[in-house]
Amino acid sequence: MDTVPRLRGKTVVLSGGVGGARFAWGLARLLPPEDLTIIVNVGDDFRHFGLYICPDLDIVCYTLADMEHPEQGWGLADETWHAMAMVERLHGPTWFRLGDGDLGTHLERTRRLEQGHSLSAITEDFCRAWGIPQRILPVTNDPVRTVVLTREYGPLPFQEYFVKYRTQPTVRGFHFRGAEQAYPAPGVIPAINEALVVLIAPSNPWVSIDPILAVPGIREALAGKTVVAVSPIIGGQTVKGPAAKMYREMGIEPSALAVARHYRDLLQGFVVDLRDAALASVIQQELGIPVLITDTWMQPKPKRAQVARSVWEFAHTLARTYP
Ligand code: GDP
Ligand code: CA
Repeated sequence: MDTVPRLRGKTVVLSGGVGGARFAWGLARLLPPEDLTIIVNVGDDFRHFGLYICPDLDIVCYTLADMEHPEQGWGLADETWHAMAMVERLHGPTWFRLGDGDLGTHLERTRRLEQGHSLSAITEDFCRAWGIPQRILPVTNDPVRTVVLTREYGPLPFQEYFVKYRTQPTVRGFHFRGAEQAYPAPGVIPAINEALVVLIAPSNPWVSIDPILAVPGIREALAGKTVVAVSPIIGGQTVKGPAAKMYREMGIEPSALAVARHYRDLLQGFVVDLRDAALASVIQQELGIPVLITDTWMQPKPKRAQVARSVWEFAHTLARTYP
């Protein structure tokens, strides 16, 4: 399945969880590892059972190490559930599922954080241990917490909205608590500065990419770079997750056009799925940027490399045309 990397050029990916992880996995098949840096959302991070849990960082790492659960979009493949079964027997909270192997990650991460290590240093070390040669960086080492403002329950911490309430509450808006005081993690700004292209993965714009962009310094670093985003919305729907529902509840018709508008100040190019070919000329005219129409459906697994290749080649062409 692995192809020999043949493309070259420093590439940065902005990523949430599953959509970002799958896209990054595809790029990892094409680029030499030293050319690929993945900057990951930390807005979903939270404490549970006293443990520090980073859902997006973990799924990106598990996916790049080929250890991820094949369908779920979170957690490890071949996981066991003894700890969770005991929590349940003891009438503890079971709304957030943590497998035994996954728990090991959170235990060791929490232990190191309490010893004073930074999240980015811990992630770098974990990647080495998991055999991941690419660089995976949390966007910041400071706490940034996505709060979902809901009609029914008021402000909800992201995981409560997402897992406990199963994305059912009506969204009124978002707040990235702590973002104003956050600094980009070491390596984040240099990686963007050195990048030939910056690719915004087909991740949730509201709760995966916006919290990355909310960290002061990130938008400034992206200005003038060749930034290309891939729409996570295909035919008005999400492949997985609540992005389309969020658009609707925020009073916006969910579509690739809505996503392009969402990122409009940042983009040098945009990628829509074949099913949204009709929107390409509208986006092209309205935003004045080139639009690539391609198959962006990243299943089955080997197709991720195909998607990554078309997006990367498109972005690379733009970088060469408008240096
Ligand atoms: P989360 O943090 O796990 O919710 O993951 P992300 O925000 O990274 O990804 C969720 C988004 O990925 C959803 O909006 C999906 O529509 C999108 N997504 C997932 N798989 C695919 C795919 O194969 N193609 C495209 N274009 N988008 C996808
Ligand atoms: Ca996430």
